[in-house]
Amino acid sequence: MSRFTRRELVRAVGAAALGVAAWLHLRPRSEAQRAKRALRIAHLTDIHVQPEGTATQGMVNCLKAVHEMSDRPDLILFGGDNVMDVFAQNRDRAKVLADLWRKMVREYCEIPFRVCVGNHDVWGWDKGKSGCSGNEPEYGKKWAIDTFELPNSYYAFEQAGWKFIVLDSTYPHGNDYKGRLDDEQFGWLREELKRTPRATPIFVLSHIPILSASAFLDGENEKTGDWVVPGAWMHIDARRMVELFYEHPNVKLCVSGHIHLLDKVEYNGVTYICDGAVSGAWWRGNYHQTRPGWGLIDLYPDGSFTHEYRSFEYPR
Ligand SMILES: [Zn+2]
Repeated sequence: MSRFTRRELVRAVGAAALGVAAWLHLRPRSEAQRAKRALRIAHLTDIHVQPEGTATQGMVNCLKAVHEMSDRPDLILFGGDNVMDVFAQNRDRAKVLADLWRKMVREYCEIPFRVCVGNHDVWGWDKGKSGCSGNEPEYGKKWAIDTFELPNSYYAFEQAGWKFIVLDSTYPHGNDYKGRLDDEQFGWLREELKRTPRATPIFVLSHIPILSASAFLDGENEKTGDWVVPGAWMHIDARRMVELFYEHPNVKLCVSGHIHLLDKVEYNGVTYICDGAVSGAWWRGNYHQTRPGWGLIDLYPDGSFTHEYRSFEYPR
């Protein structure tokens, strides 16, 4: 027999659920704070949720930190690699992770959210490990589109006077991938920028960074005597994207994840933020010098913004 009273048991076993009930519905906010800015965003990237270990508790704790803010964000952006991995996993494992993701956002996320697709959210492209033939109906990006209920693997929307462009960075390369847009998506991006009024500030969300300092330092990229940054770590088509953004000075901010390291690069007046990782080192603490965390981004009507990297109660 348990020596817990029922009340204690409920508290112990159902702590997450009870906590949720309390924090999901908190919404105090100073109207003065709200009036100045256009939108407050929580950017949660590289959650890598899975049933094993501390991942689900960590995701709950992070969402709790966001929901409990006295000045609560209006929007959550999930930056990709939302699940641990389906790229090299079989159908059964992909189903477990799809079900888990849906359950987590249904039960622990009340704030409206949008989702970006990461490389680990693409089902089965590593055919050797996944056993996929490529003919499965949910193969590849379709798994992510279904699981995250997306209109497409890349899309745009407008909110609070800003234009948001959500890119799909994962480009096939044998059984692996590179960070780049295919020509169709690049053409779509060009048209999307062209038809956005100049006065409308633009926020670009990608999983893989377009430009990043972190990508140089994650790995022994200097061992040949030259800096060699893998095309899977930073957009290999960054040059054409940077040139395109140069024609559209209303592109203000590009936010990514993927590297699990935190950096901020400013180039041609565009700020590129690689926003760490909720999972840190895949739920094993800090990754190099970057602690687990998430980005708090405030957008203003004039195209300016602030960014702050925030911690949460990381399960050990
Ligand atoms: Zn990634």
